[in-house]
Amino acid sequence: MSHLDELYQQIILDHNKAPRNFGELADANRKAEGYNPLCGDRVTVYLKVEDGTIRDIGFQGSGCAISTASASLMTEVLKGKTEVETKALFEAFRSLVMGKTTESESTEKLGKLLALQGVSEFPVRVKCATLVWHTLQAALREQQLPVSSE
Ligand code: ZN
Repeated sequence: MSHLDELYQQIILDHNKAPRNFGELADANRKAEGYNPLCGDRVTVYLKVEDGTIRDIGFQGSGCAISTASASLMTEVLKGKTEVETKALFEAFRSLVMGKTTESESTEKLGKLLALQGVSEFPVRVKCATLVWHTLQAALREQQLPVSSE
């Protein structure tokens, strides 16, 4: 295992053990629930959106280490981002975990989300990593129905 892999694994373990922004957001104005039947991961995303910008974000749920760490990292990265920036990050993140990212493209703006790049070696875990992002999209669309990662 390379030094970088070890570092990324530490970040995932840390975020799984002590998830950031965990809990219901009292003044949320958007909310969505997601479920990944392949693994049993469940997540609820809470957003406070004003003027197209995510002012605050929180999540709750239970799932595997990848899904929890991904949700925690996502909330850290998205606070203060606009909906347009959020969509671009989601595209970049999806490419990353599917192993489709090219060197120059998007790795810079992904920042700490890069910790999840190892997921690309385990295709069955991709849905664990992207569940919270799909749920976020649903919350931004103010979709009321629970979403599935399928
Ligand atoms: Zn999972």
